[in-house]
This record gives sequence, structure tokens and C-alpha cells, in this order.
Amino acid sequence: MAYNRDNIFAKILRGEILCDKVYEDNFAFAFNDINPQAPSHILVIPKGEYVSWADFSEDAPDELIAGFVRAVGKIAKAAGLEDDGYRLLANAGAHAHQEVPHLHIHIFGGRPLGPMLSGGA
Ligand code: AMP
Repeated sequence: MAYNRDNIFAKILRGEILCDKVYEDNFAFAFNDINPQAPSHILVIPKGEYVSWADFSEDAPDELIAGFVRAVGKIAKAAGLEDDGYRLLANAGAHAHQEVPHLHIHIFGGRPLGPMLSGGA
């Protein structure tokens, strides 16, 4: 899928829409989800135009991939989630209900999170 520069996370990255910012470095930007599904629900997005893990992993420079992955770990730790645990999730495409077409990692934590997926196989 081609990247659409009008998506809401692109606007947040450009500072056109306000967000509850948690973290920023050269590779990643993080903010609290507007509709939290857990006491901690943080979204981490790469600083680049990538829709999903597929095009990010194929097309992003190594430095950005490494920086983004490191940022996710750093943010979860700084949120105090390391001891009790947390879940990372990246939705891609229709079956996963990806709503925003800019790659994002959800970090969920702050309570027991239950089974990995709702519904059975
Ligand atoms: P996904 O279904 O993986 O694409 O998730 C998109 C997430 O973005 C949802 O959890 C939304 O609540 C969240 N979201 C949408 N708009 C905003 C916004 N302006 N600020 C923060 N989170 C948002």
C-alpha cells in the first residue's frame, strides 16, 4: 500500500495535531493512545513514511530500524513496565484491523493482559 501523508500519525509527527507525547529521538516518536485499552497504552511510530512492518523492514535504513527497535524497549522500560511485563502489538492490514496506515507499535501494560487474542483459531 502506498503511504498516505494525510494519515493522522503523519500529522502528529509533523506537529499539525496535538498528542500526549511520551518520547522522541531521531528515529521514533511515542505518545499515549487516545483510547487506551490498558492503564499504559503507548503508541510508538518510526520517523519515516512506512505503512506496516513489511515495508519498514524491507525499505527502512538499518540505522532507523535499529533506532526504532531500541526506542520501543527504552520506552517500555521508562514507563515502568519491565518488572510486571507488557505486550507489544503491531496491526497490519484488514484482518488485523489496522486503522492508521503509518506503522505503529502498541505497548500495553499496567494490568494482567489476558490471553493473546480474543476468539479462537
Ligand atoms: P490500529 O488499529 O493498530 O491502527 O490502532 C490505531 C490506534 O490509534 C488506536 O488504538 C486509536 O485509539 C489510536 N489513535 C487514533 N487517533 C489517535 C490520536 N489522535 N492520538 C492518539 N491515538 C490515536
